[in-house]
Amino acid sequence: MIDLELTEEHIALKKTVKEFCDGEIAPYIKEWDEKSHFERSVFDKMAELGLLGVCIPEEYGGAGFDYVSLGLVCEELEACDTFMRVAMSVHVGLNSLSLLTWGTEEQKQKYLVPQAKGEKLATFGLTEPNAGSDVVGMRSYARRDGDDWILNGEKMWISLGDVADHFLFFCWTDAEKQKNRDHSGISCFIVERTMAGFSSGTLHGKLGIKAGNTGYFSLQDVRVPASNMLGQEGEGFKIAMFSLENGRYTVAAGATGVIRASRDASVAYANTREVQGQTIANFQLVKQKIAEMEADYEMTHLLWLKCGYLKNNGMPSAKAASLAKWQATTRSEKAASMAIEVHGANGYTNDYPVERYLRNCKAAVIYEGTRDIHTLMQADWALGLKKEPKARVMLPAYKAANA
Ligand SMILES: Cc1cc2nc3c(=O)[nH]c(=O)nc-3n(C[C@H](O)[C@H](O)[C@H](O)COP(=O)(O)OP(=O)(O)OC[C@H]3O[C@@H](n4cnc5c(N)ncnc54)[C@H](O)[C@@H]3O)c2cc1C
Repeated sequence: MIDLELTEEHIALKKTVKEFCDGEIAPYIKEWDEKSHFERSVFDKMAELGLLGVCIPEEYGGAGFDYVSLGLVCEELEACDTFMRVAMSVHVGLNSLSLLTWGTEEQKQKYLVPQAKGEKLATFGLTEPNAGSDVVGMRSYARRDGDDWILNGEKMWISLGDVADHFLFFCWTDAEKQKNRDHSGISCFIVERTMAGFSSGTLHGKLGIKAGNTGYFSLQDVRVPASNMLGQEGEGFKIAMFSLENGRYTVAAGATGVIRASRDASVAYANTREVQGQTIANFQLVKQKIAEMEADYEMTHLLWLKCGYLKNNGMPSAKAASLAKWQATTRSEKAASMAIEVHGANGYTNDYPVERYLRNCKAAVIYEGTRDIHTLMQADWALGLKKEPKARVMLPAYKAANA
């Protein structure tokens, strides 16, 4: 049974994140956005609060909370700005939870523990200049050399790409399978920024998430020990899909925060802006926009929450995560756009936050599976053309607490 009630722990966590956003992000975000400034110290402050390991078990340096807590942090962060939610998505959703699930004890101690404590930042390198939706179109490859692997390739559009310390790097380890586009020839490695042959850069000219770092990285004959392979040889595609399921969950929760913020900004503006001697809150079409934002917020909040509870209970959640991500990102774009209209010309300037919401939320329609890809996946599930993968882990701490 899914219990939709938040625990006292959840409510306290939400409050902590809201206070953190109000104190550490909201006063500065306009300037960071204008200057495309990435403020690294925000991570250190989040680490102090335990947020960078929120759902990682305490034995691995985390706060030991559940999946719903991860969603609540993401919704709250993105109600303020997108850049830190993106960081949570890649650091926790795409990287740390994958180390927790697929990593050896040695990998967990070496990489997961400092990540969960926020001493090291981590991200996820799947996309390449010529391969996004088409994962098997990737060209990165690794060849075995004694006890090591030699990695080569280029990854692009990587959140935190120019600032992270640890990377998951996906590449072909079987040239024959690559020719046949057989994804069982893809493997995953843990790579460190300090490894010889690693270089990275920042991408400029983005529409939004300007306070966040989006980059690329390149590996030229980077030598890693075989012990840096995550999972078994050939399990890279499976790991990538597992990671993306968690990432989509965080993106859905974040996009829900955008809808809430758009609604709240619209309500505040509608209650104060006077036209023809009355506040615009009296106009039916303004009300309609606010009503739609309200409905979209409630629906998308329930969608990601359901997904969080499925995950907490070790139940399959790939379909729920995809649905929540698809609907929340689509509706966040609509909400932010409508919020600009409620604000009239003021909404078109950065004197108000709503234009930033719209610029920021567009990317989420593209990453972690484009809207088109999720639409097709949902249709295939409904038509019985696709089977939902089995659930892989339930967070150990949560499992123990609920045993
Ligand atoms: C701000 C930002 C941050 C990102 N962060 C990361 C990150 O941290 N790590 C990472 O690995 N990647 C990251 N990405 C990359 C992102 O995941 C890819 O951009 C996304 O998967 C889409 O790939 P693409 O850009 O190559 O588009 P393409 O795959 O080239 O798609 C182009 C268009 O074709 C459509 N299309 C493609 N294939 C199909 C199909 N089979 N059926 C129907 N339609 C199709 C798409 O829906 C889209 O409309 C990020 C992207 C952005 C914008």
